[in-house]
Amino acid sequence: MASGSGEVSGEALDHELAELLDVETFDPPAEFRERALLNDPAVYEQAARDPQAWWAKQAKELHWFKEWTEVLNDDDPPFYKWFTGGTLNVSYNCLDRHVLAGRGDRVAFHWRGEEGQERDITYAELLAEVQRFANALKDLGVGRGDVVGIYLPMIPEVVISMLACARIGAPHNVVFGGFSAEAVRERMEFSEAKLLITTDGAARKGKTAPIKDRVDDVTGDLATLEKIVVVRSKGTPCQMKEGRDVFYDEIVAAAHPDCPAEPLDSEHPLYILYTSGSTAKPKGILHTTGGYLTGVAATHRYVFDLKPDSDVYWCAADVGWVTGHSYIVYGPLCNGATSVMWEGAPDYPHKGIWWELIERYGVTILYCAPTAIRACMKWGADWPNKHDLSSLRVLGTVGEPINPKAWLWYHKVIGSERCPIVDTWWQTETGAIMITPLPGITATKPGSATHPFPGVFAEVLDESTGEPVTEGQGLLVLTRPCPSMLRTLYKEPERFLQTYFSRFGKDTYLVGDAARRDSDGYLWVIGRIDDVVNVSGHRLSTAEVESAIVAHPDVAEAAVIGEHDEDSGQAIVAFVTLQGDLVGDDQTIEGIRATVADRIGKFARPKRIIWSDDLPKTRSGKIMRRLLRDIAEGRALGDVTTLRDPAVTAQLEERVKELQAQED
Ligand code: ATP
Ligand code: MG
Repeated sequence: MASGSGEVSGEALDHELAELLDVETFDPPAEFRERALLNDPAVYEQAARDPQAWWAKQAKELHWFKEWTEVLNDDDPPFYKWFTGGTLNVSYNCLDRHVLAGRGDRVAFHWRGEEGQERDITYAELLAEVQRFANALKDLGVGRGDVVGIYLPMIPEVVISMLACARIGAPHNVVFGGFSAEAVRERMEFSEAKLLITTDGAARKGKTAPIKDRVDDVTGDLATLEKIVVVRSKGTPCQMKEGRDVFYDEIVAAAHPDCPAEPLDSEHPLYILYTSGSTAKPKGILHTTGGYLTGVAATHRYVFDLKPDSDVYWCAADVGWVTGHSYIVYGPLCNGATSVMWEGAPDYPHKGIWWELIERYGVTILYCAPTAIRACMKWGADWPNKHDLSSLRVLGTVGEPINPKAWLWYHKVIGSERCPIVDTWWQTETGAIMITPLPGITATKPGSATHPFPGVFAEVLDESTGEPVTEGQGLLVLTRPCPSMLRTLYKEPERFLQTYFSRFGKDTYLVGDAARRDSDGYLWVIGRIDDVVNVSGHRLSTAEVESAIVAHPDVAEAAVIGEHDEDSGQAIVAFVTLQGDLVGDDQTIEGIRATVADRIGKFARPKRIIWSDDLPKTRSGKIMRRLLRDIAEGRALGDVTTLRDPAVTAQLEERVKELQAQED
């Protein structure tokens, strides 16, 4: 049986979405609200009255070997410490605790390989494997405080590796599997990793890419890198350097099965992770133990209304991003959830694979990125309509502002208008979700991340006066310390202070995003500070204009930038991808301009529209507007190391040249 939206497709769907675009708020369904973990708005006031007590209450949900003596130490802002004096272990919280409570047989992950292979891993199995691998790491000379690099695809060993590091207090530095070996080298060198865990090869849409041999090409001369552990995953032949390289299966088989979790200080470093690099050279974010786990566990439980006994949760991100760290690994395991882990891409072996997996495993909570939703929208509702998605009850998004049209498509086609959508705003830096609806409480508005999570304090500050804006646009800031926040930029404390605390002082964390507060007090994160466009004195957010363009029925995706203009200061240039195989012409351009005039105003109409088969995106799927600015202005491209597909920029550079030739 198809879900309720099964009959809706093509023009009828466009029509219904267009009508929904005018609906302002979506209340949580009464039945959902009744059963939700949090359904009383008083929780916000409670947390605001005494945030430290609120966070301490969340921390008490964890297992501590020794409880803290002080909730928050703010002797040296902005270098805050949380739960000082306390000791705990993240892997103990994620594994031992559940097994000791008799939940060892519960599936932690339904792992699914690209070619349909399936492997269910229980909590007890995960604990056993983690203990052995932790011992193996110790046998190889890794100790407390030693940095371990992890460069693995979406296979169970990536989770096992992270937990094994956490178990012995070795901070990990995961590099997204899609990054080049060069990026791995850079990150290993900078973090002085002692050991690297990688694999022979990785699945890439039906092909196998060699990994270990590529790593060898660039890591040979790294002085600090003493050992490389190789997971035999695809049977790809690879060179093994005598004395340095070992196979994962061999060392695990030889290791002792018991490895008690080490009690670690609450501020012991858990991991280093580099940001996506959407705006600048990636930053090495440092997260620690007690505060981080408190933040991710609490947000994971309440934002997704997690009922670990009955839910099947799926975060369709990659472990290599912070979303994967916090919401594939640490949050869900700490909460004893059963998750789906998918090795591959959303369009292999076919464009309906996500929906097939949801039906297969009875997924109840889905968490993914707007870029994926826009791609699915482009592929059409027929793919999800082939599957029974009635198990779903909560839908989440993260990573970018979501255009209202994509939100409504998600709501209608995937959620059958029954599932609350949580649009979660946060960053690598914040470690955990910061601004989000609570699904049993918040009336949502498509495109707004709504309100700060209880115990989080966000403001929009006026750009010139620095005063809080009650209604209107400004700079998003966090005004109080929060347990899951980064502690510093790894080995760059000066850059940490400069980037986040030089604008408004040490008490106010500058997020780097622009936001708007509407007349109901809702927050709308509208893009990076640098992405705001000023047309004839009107300050426009790129997200707002993009959403208006995407509201045109032919448009699948759009990215907007400002370029210098003699008359208006800046003018809007839009890069537009059309639905399916549609080809844009003058009529489409006029239609898009009219839609923007209609939704925002004539001044916001794009001056130039450049058709693009695809847009330059980071490997986590975010649009890199800084590269679009370079392309539009014919400049050499800035840092492209985090770009997913270089062919996209080459094509756009060509297009822009052609257009310029036509104009001249
Ligand atoms: P870099 O900092 O290197 O430029 P990045 O900011 O893309 O990279 P991340 O930490 O992965 O790296 O992304 C955080 C950013 O993503 C936020 O600052 C915000 O701009 C955007 N973002 C995340 N979630 C949302 C959301 N729900 N709505 C709007 N924007 C979001
Ligand atoms: Mg950032």
